Amino acid sequence: MIKAKGYASLKAKAPLTPFSFERRDPKDHDVVIDIKFCGICHSDIHMVRDEWGFASPFPMVPGHEIAGVVRAVGPKVTKYKVGDHVGVGCMVDSCRECAHCEQDLENYCIPGNTGTYGAMERDGSAVTQGGYSDIIVVNEDFVLRIPDNLPLDKAAPLLCAGITTYSPLRHWNAGPGKKVGVLGLGGLGHMAVKIASAMGAHVVVLSHSEKKREDAKKLGAHEFVVTKDAEVLKQNGLSFDLIINTVSSADLDMASFFNLLKLDGTLVSVGAPDKPLTFHPFPLIMMRRNYAGSVIGSIKETQEMLDFCGKHNITSEIEVISPKQVNEAYERVLKSDIRYRFVLDMSQL
Ligand code: NAP
Ligand code: ZN
Ligand code: ZN
Repeated sequence: MIKAKGYASLKAKAPLTPFSFERRDPKDHDVVIDIKFCGICHSDIHMVRDEWGFASPFPMVPGHEIAGVVRAVGPKVTKYKVGDHVGVGCMVDSCRECAHCEQDLENYCIPGNTGTYGAMERDGSAVTQGGYSDIIVVNEDFVLRIPDNLPLDKAAPLLCAGITTYSPLRHWNAGPGKKVGVLGLGGLGHMAVKIASAMGAHVVVLSHSEKKREDAKKLGAHEFVVTKDAEVLKQNGLSFDLIINTVSSADLDMASFFNLLKLDGTLVSVGAPDKPLTFHPFPLIMMRRNYAGSVIGSIKETQEMLDFCGKHNITSEIEVISPKQVNEAYERVLKSDIRYRFVLDMSQL
């Protein structure tokens, strides 16, 4: 076994504390990765606090925005070699044989993909532990290549925030001639703005306060709308092709956002609040609008997203911190007091 150290929550809602544990020795197709940086996703907070009621096992080492360097490879690994810059996102395995896995859609694996943390390995050998740690061992099929021109700290958030927004933007054809709304300018939202504008869409940030107006422009948004202003929302009615909802809270008047969509427009929820969203279907019924969801992206699509970001030089806006500061960082994420992603520097472990 390989000795690992990191930060874990020992039980639901407990603060994170230093934690020692073990990783498996590499099997034939495993890649051993020295973790250099790991982003803090709002999902980590939902998971550590058990806000979704998944009853995931503790101790839990969160973290699924992992960027690092290959330390060693198993004897049958063909895709990676020692020294490569690699990433690991939200899943480390899937059943590999269901109808969705066969279509390269492991994120929608029918029996369920294996989460990077808080899940049982498919052979039942161990509970997975995530990236707030110094080392990880992952099957090569679930390892991604990070383009050489992207610095590892700023690239780490692409592994969740990047792919979670890239996938619905691609699926619902964001591009030239399309007006795309990004609801919530946080970790996911700021990536959505950068990616959608690189795709050529007309991008509008829908934010709950005035505070981020200047930032939105710098990130590449063409317009900024404060969602608390009912009159401005009304003026923007029937004009959006697509809205990506990245908000982490259920405190949203969904009707006011559905009404922004054109006939046949689509609102996609990727934000996953602790409580249900409630709405009457009339705004959907009246204009044949669509309401959809989307979870991360497949491995193939994650590589496509990383290559797209490499080509367009897209990375995350980050604040690099020591793992010791993780609990403070969680409090700041909850207050939306981060522009726009915390990234843990594992050299300070
Ligand atoms: P984040 O950085 O905290 O950003 C969330 C944003 O939502 C905030 O910046 C804020 O934007 C807005 N917001 C927060 N509280 C609000 C409130 N009470 N009312 C209105 N707006 C509010 O979080 P994140 O890491 O981007 O994650 C966002 C959500 O996506 C989380 O629920 C997370 O679990 C989920 N997620 C889903 C997937 C998936 O695969 N579907 C993957 C990753 C994450 P403004 O200040 O601009 O309003
Ligand atoms: Zn995430
Ligand atoms: Zn499957």
